[in-house]
Amino acid sequence: MSATSETNENEADKLDFIRDIVASDIEANTHDGRVQTRFPPEPNGYLHIGHAKSICLNFGIAQEFGGKCNLRFDDTNPTKEDTEYVESIQNDVRWLGFEWDELLYTSDYFEQLYDWACVLIKKGLAYVDSQPFEDIRAQRGTATEPGTDSPHRNRTPEENLDLFARMRAGEFQDGEHVLRAKIDMASTHLILRDPLMYRIRHVEHHRTGNRWCIYPMYDYAHGQSDAFEEITHSICTLEFDTHRPLYDWFIEKLEIFPSKQYEFARLNLTHTVMSKRKLLELVEAGFVTGWDDPRMPTISGLRRRGYTPEAIRNFCTEIGVTRYNGLTDIVVLENALRADLNKRAERRMAVLDPIKVVITNYPEGQVEELDAVNNPEDDSAGNRKVPFGRELYIERDDFMEDPPKKFFRLGPGREVRLRWAYFLKCEDFVTDESGKVIQLNCTYDPATKGGNSPDGRKVKGTIHWVHAGSAIDAEVRILDHLLKIGNPAEIPEGTDWKEALNEDSLKVLTGCKLEPSLAEADSSLPVQFERKGYFIPDAKDSQPDALVFNQTVSLRDSWLKKKKK
Ligand code: ATP
Ligand code: MG
Repeated sequence: MSATSETNENEADKLDFIRDIVASDIEANTHDGRVQTRFPPEPNGYLHIGHAKSICLNFGIAQEFGGKCNLRFDDTNPTKEDTEYVESIQNDVRWLGFEWDELLYTSDYFEQLYDWACVLIKKGLAYVDSQPFEDIRAQRGTATEPGTDSPHRNRTPEENLDLFARMRAGEFQDGEHVLRAKIDMASTHLILRDPLMYRIRHVEHHRTGNRWCIYPMYDYAHGQSDAFEEITHSICTLEFDTHRPLYDWFIEKLEIFPSKQYEFARLNLTHTVMSKRKLLELVEAGFVTGWDDPRMPTISGLRRRGYTPEAIRNFCTEIGVTRYNGLTDIVVLENALRADLNKRAERRMAVLDPIKVVITNYPEGQVEELDAVNNPEDDSAGNRKVPFGRELYIERDDFMEDPPKKFFRLGPGREVRLRWAYFLKCEDFVTDESGKVIQLNCTYDPATKGGNSPDGRKVKGTIHWVHAGSAIDAEVRILDHLLKIGNPAEIPEGTDWKEALNEDSLKVLTGCKLEPSLAEADSSLPVQFERKGYFIPDAKDSQPDALVFNQTVSLRDSWLKKKKK
């Protein structure tokens, strides 16, 4: 594990191309050496692990370079936005360990954006088009052919100002008019072929109510919001690279603060979908229980599953920032979590598929308390007592009726070490009428307390166990990937992507037996069930008298092995 954390530290020292730009801007005293970034989510869904990459980048740069980072809700699309999302986003950013300088909303700029649109109209750089949207699109041309001018392109500024004011006043229906920037219908940059700036939408906005019935388009609103906030480095994902000429055009023509846009590759992960639209589909179709279902790649889902902010931040550092779109194996994310939990999670014993053991030479009615180490990776975690007695539970698959030679667990006549306890030898077993093994009769060696034999006798296997009389019952949810296929881009075009969903992504185990100290486990950090993986009480469903644990992550990656079988 130390190898992983060393790599993380080295990675953190290494600048990426965006940090390189920031560093050289500071050196050149651009913007007086000031660094101001922003994270601009649209409040139309919960944040996912892809957003975490952008958060770590924007807030991280501000932290590292003594700058500031705003949280700006890019709320220009009234139909899909909601205050529930606004709240969850703030909660998630804070949970990841970041605090914004200012909390802002693009909708707060609507008046200013309107005024600046009027400035462009007066300069002859914007006009009202009254054609149907399909016509506008058809006139756009292609990469090889220039577009066609709109018949309304040469309306006078007076006429445009009047129409635009009446659009705002609500005199027209949706789609009757739009405002377009007047740039160049033959530009080699398609984005510069008189792009839309405003459209009419008679819908209520979650913050501005019915005050507006015209709403700015992303390209117009975004860069101008950056300028209001004097953003020095406006960082976004690669698909906006073709939008940059327009971003620069608006800033140049309005003669406003010269924010600059930089693009990086978005995060794509194997075995999961990421876009908010698809995640919303899963919620609405009831495939998951909500945005915070522990199988979801959302920050709230990962949190409920037991992911730590540290693991997510380390993951973001490890994958780095590039301009090449790629696909990151979800194992990289899981390994970042394993590395963190290995250091911090306390160890406990839990039997997920129990079979009863009776130790025939252990005094009836006697219970002793044995010392168990909480975390071998962290001395400060101390020890705890675990009860031991005549009846125990062990895992069903730690026993075989007729085991092969290399099976170092229990079988008739075989001896194993019970973790923190004694050597245990299986004498015989009991079956029910169907032939299913229901009990093992064993003996223990009192001289092997603590796990070693004074006569030098060796055993190869160590298994975990739980004392039957003090065990607590729990439900344990075993979680697997959302998608059964690795690369989500390989979902065939024209098919329902939901066919790629892994129907076995949730397995519920009931009647699991836990050591009594697990009654106190809380939902802030997972524990390691020895030999089984990391688990955390479900923050919503677990009750003191009905414990429910989620599997956070297995001890090592089992997916590849499973696939090869
Ligand atoms: P989605 O496509 O999942 O709905 P989005 O890009 O529409 O996401 P926004 O709310 O607009 O979501 O995103 C806020 C910020 O997060 C943007 O700067 C966006 O570029 C960034 N972001 C979104 N998804 C990813 C991703 N997968 N990897 C990195 N950054 C991302
Ligand atoms: Mg979006």
